[in-house]
Amino acid sequence: MTQKFCLCGIPPRELESILFPMPRYRAEQVFAWINKGVDSFDAMNNLPLAQRRELDGRFCLRKTTFIKILDGPGAAKLQIGVSGGLVEAVVLTDGAGRRTACLSTQLGCAMGCVFCKTGLMGFTRNLDSAEITEQFYHIRRFYPDISNIVFMGMGEPLLNLCELRRSIAALCRTMSPRRVTVSTCGLADGIESLADEGPAVRLAVSLTTAREELRQRLMPVSRANPLLRLKEALLYHEARVGRRITLEAVLLGGINSNAEDARAMAAFARGLNVVVNLIPWNPVEGVFFDGAPLKEPSPVEIRRFSAELEKRGLKTVIRRRKGRGVSGACGQLGSRQRV
Ligand code: SF4
Repeated sequence: MTQKFCLCGIPPRELESILFPMPRYRAEQVFAWINKGVDSFDAMNNLPLAQRRELDGRFCLRKTTFIKILDGPGAAKLQIGVSGGLVEAVVLTDGAGRRTACLSTQLGCAMGCVFCKTGLMGFTRNLDSAEITEQFYHIRRFYPDISNIVFMGMGEPLLNLCELRRSIAALCRTMSPRRVTVSTCGLADGIESLADEGPAVRLAVSLTTAREELRQRLMPVSRANPLLRLKEALLYHEARVGRRITLEAVLLGGINSNAEDARAMAAFARGLNVVVNLIPWNPVEGVFFDGAPLKEPSPVEIRRFSAELEKRGLKTVIRRRKGRGVSGACGQLGSRQRV
């Protein structure tokens, strides 16, 4: 049986043309219901019954399946079935009770960052806008008070820009783009495309180290996007968008956290308006570098690295370890299970 076309995650303007010759206000009503998270046309009680039936005959409102939720302190992970596998999405709650939904954009990832479980899985396919947006609606059934969204789950968002843009256009009907962050491993062309064509969301870049040779070994993406090119793209983004960029650094015990690393990072950040988010590596089984298993950084290592950056005028934030209990922390997402 062929699957009906899914209306979830379709931006309002596009929905109008899909539903034409239905009047525009009807498309608005349908969009408003979808955005409330309804998963049946029956619930759209301000539409005439005949129209609801017609819509139900042609379209569907979900193409993903909620599988389960794993709850841990400060974080919960949802497993969601999509065609060909499972994607994972995470909810993080900060000390002030604010909740952030962390969404995935791909099934697997082709970028191969050595410290990341999703990278180990390899790449299966891009998610479409419905599959990205539905993660948010699944999350909101459990947590109605999501205040921020970050595209930092499985996959590299800038390699799926078209569907990412559609999803953001749908989600930002009710959420300010200022509360949405796209996190990339450092694709210069994608960063410039975001700057030129939007959406005007916040940008985070996983830098991890500003030592070129080390970065190329930890994050193969940087072979085609060396530091100079990456910085050029960040300066361009900053000039066009005018927002502070977050540099993320996954700290790996004994590998990228010494004074030399801090100096290189400070030099890279010179001239940019950035905050550095330090993310102590979250353990993933079977991950090796130079023949040895990766290690978490010690608390002293983290503090020293942060102090070295601050000494050089960089604002740093040390990310609290959240989500480990459910393997939902940064770099720990990924399941090979098929549904
Ligand atoms: S860190 Fe991000 S870009 Fe790198 S392999 Fe993992 S999911 Fe892909």
